[in-house]
Amino acid sequence: MVGIRSAKPEDSRQKGWKSGPLLGIESSCDETAAAVLGSDGTVLSNIVASQQAVHEKFGGVVPELAARAHLGKIDLVVMRALEEARVSKGDLQAIAVTQGPGLAGALLVGVNYAKALSYGLGIPLVGVNHLQGHIASAWLADPTFPLPCIVLVVSGGHTHLYRREANGECLLLGRTRDDAAGEAFDKGAQMLGLGYPGGPAMDLIARIGDRQAIPFPRFHGARSSLEFSFSGLKTSLLYKLRGMATPLNQRQIADLAAGYQEAIVQVLVTKALSALKQSNLSAIAVVGGVSANSRLRAVLSERAEHGQIRLSLPSMEFCTDNAAMIASAGRQRLMRGEPWSPILDICPTDGSMTSVGARPVTTSFQK
Ligand code: ADP
Ligand code: MG
Repeated sequence: MVGIRSAKPEDSRQKGWKSGPLLGIESSCDETAAAVLGSDGTVLSNIVASQQAVHEKFGGVVPELAARAHLGKIDLVVMRALEEARVSKGDLQAIAVTQGPGLAGALLVGVNYAKALSYGLGIPLVGVNHLQGHIASAWLADPTFPLPCIVLVVSGGHTHLYRREANGECLLLGRTRDDAAGEAFDKGAQMLGLGYPGGPAMDLIARIGDRQAIPFPRFHGARSSLEFSFSGLKTSLLYKLRGMATPLNQRQIADLAAGYQEAIVQVLVTKALSALKQSNLSAIAVVGGVSANSRLRAVLSERAEHGQIRLSLPSMEFCTDNAAMIASAGRQRLMRGEPWSPILDICPTDGSMTSVGARPVTTSFQK
């Protein structure tokens, strides 16, 4: 039983926290995750319970089922994270939780759990933007990674290019105008019958395919545009499949996957490097679920080596959704002395990372 200390809901903005173990909680989509950071920010535990088995028969995430699955797992996952970290609840000095963007019902589970726990323990509670979490994962891999730098967030819901300043501020340089890169992987994989989630499956089969056998369109937009678009690519796969006799053999699927993946990878790399050049910077971090893609990692590493570019890629466990990145982003905010509030609500459509400070991006389609 933990005694109630001092956090009062009416204290809407409180500053200051005592450095110590910090618990991170993530429940924005289909992973229930908890992680504990030590006093120095090192990851002591990182537990992720995937809901893949719940959603795969539907070919995508079912929001109501996601919320229920989070509810069933959250306490267990948090307990595992504390146990693995050898930290007791009473040792915790702060909690960071994903506030948004994400599925409302799913976010509510994590946020309400975190609110109750922080109130009970009388410790600071900090709400974290999920994208800020992904961005923080770059520094988990490499704490000395320099700022300012360019950050490419490539996940199931986002394809966003930022310039991150020394003070932690992010300026949006470009984003996708339609599908996110991860979404393009998932939809393409679904068309090829590779199942859900499609990214890892496509990555795997593409390794035995010929990248040049079947060419796919690559959207670049106007010269020096940093805007992305993947909807044409998806349509192109649909038309190619309509023109082929079914069932496809393994070779055909592998070639289609390799060509499709290559189109995504080359566009991501070209625009990321273009952002670097335009900003006159030499450090780039690529984060989010798609940063786990083996071809993307290989091309980026090769280009970074040849161009004398400092590259940060999260280790595989920190690419897809996890709570260590949320804990880390929360810790950074507390260390900067930013105010926190026990009165925290979910922000399912939080646009703070997708529009504020954004520079208008002008592009035109090129056939
Ligand atoms: P979100 O934050 O949008 O919920 P994540 O950051 O967890 O998403 O990333 C999930 C996305 O990453 C999915 O679209 C998935 O297909 C994609 N993904 C995961 N691993 C790979 C991979 N090896 N290759 C390509 N895409 C991948
Ligand atoms: Mg994510």
